[in-house]
Amino acid sequence: MIDRRMIPQLGEEISRLAYGGMRFPKNGDEVDVDEAVKLLRKAYEMGVNYFDTAVVYHKGESEKIFGKAFEIYDRSTYYLADKMSIWVCNSEQEMKDLFERQLKTLKTDYIDFYLVHSLNKDNYKKAKEFHCIEFLQEMKRQGKIKHLGFSFHDTYPVFKQILDEYDWEFAQIQLNYLDWQNQGAEQLYRELEKRNIPCMVMEPVRGGYLATLDEERAKPFLDLEPNRSIASWAIRWVSSLPQVAVVLSGMSDMAQLEDNVSLLTNFEPMNEQELAAVAQVVESIRKVNDIPCTGCRYCMDCPMGVDIPEIFAAYSRLKIFGREKSFVNDYEEIMKNGNGAEHCVRCMACASHCPQSIAIPDKLAMIHSLYQEKKAELEAAEQQ
Ligand code: SF4
Ligand code: SF4
Repeated sequence: MIDRRMIPQLGEEISRLAYGGMRFPKNGDEVDVDEAVKLLRKAYEMGVNYFDTAVVYHKGESEKIFGKAFEIYDRSTYYLADKMSIWVCNSEQEMKDLFERQLKTLKTDYIDFYLVHSLNKDNYKKAKEFHCIEFLQEMKRQGKIKHLGFSFHDTYPVFKQILDEYDWEFAQIQLNYLDWQNQGAEQLYRELEKRNIPCMVMEPVRGGYLATLDEERAKPFLDLEPNRSIASWAIRWVSSLPQVAVVLSGMSDMAQLEDNVSLLTNFEPMNEQELAAVAQVVESIRKVNDIPCTGCRYCMDCPMGVDIPEIFAAYSRLKIFGREKSFVNDYEEIMKNGNGAEHCVRCMACASHCPQSIAIPDKLAMIHSLYQEKKAELEAAEQQ
């Protein structure tokens, strides 16, 4: 069984691992509901007791799957986390209706951990306009919410402002060994530590990126522990931080779930040697990848159909693995589906949603030119 720890600030005993319902397995375009339910129940049976969803995950299907998966269990034996995705609401009333709908979909009278979702400057402004936090505080008084927190994607000053303006019981931030210094995640973490607010972690493997490092990049890990998965280093690193209450992972199959559970069973924080290996890996990644896309897809959907995260992922693979032919093939596959960067009209609808502050249209133009360059080079090489 996975480790559980009492988080004194919350008075709750929580498993070190949380199941995030944003990357369930799919059958074509549709979520494989039976498989997703099976995964959630298996996690529950393995001792995971924190389950996190949102109305925007899998276009609303994730909450329904949660409702179905947990209807067979005693409600007091697991924690549900759900979120107010304020950007999908057009009015204060819609926001209130959404909350009530979430309770019904999840088949519950209360939500254990409720978050104002993905707060950045714009979402925070809208949340204030709709009196969202006051409404959720009222829901807490009525017993419909047990703990109120927020998830965050913006800069440190915005984070500090949010923490200063309301009383929060927990906060969820993107934290992994690559973003620790790269994206200023350490500053956010330290702020929570200073205020003694429990830290829920999302993106521990950076949208899968830290699970797929090539052998060259992962050499310090493989030298030390050849049989351990590359992803395990990311999960163990983040779990070693004392202010971290729970680590969320959006698991898509049984193997991932079993790997994560085994890592956080009889868990020991990383030792000096392991931390040194992580530092070496960070250094080698930092040298090659200059677009810090996490694949969160908050920039989507682009009105012109550009598949921004897929294009950045293809570029990132090129930078890390150096396989030019694969890059050209991957990019052509994206273009074939009408989702290439050449369709970008610089409307800027995407850029303000990017938690990583990536200059998306500029980077897309750069990648498209790079594709043309690499394609020409490959064709020239073939003719020789
Ligand atoms: S700037 Fe380009 S990629 Fe971004 S939403 Fe507009 S058309 Fe799409
Ligand atoms: S470009 Fe930004 S918003 Fe879009 S997937 Fe990448 S990190 Fe997320």
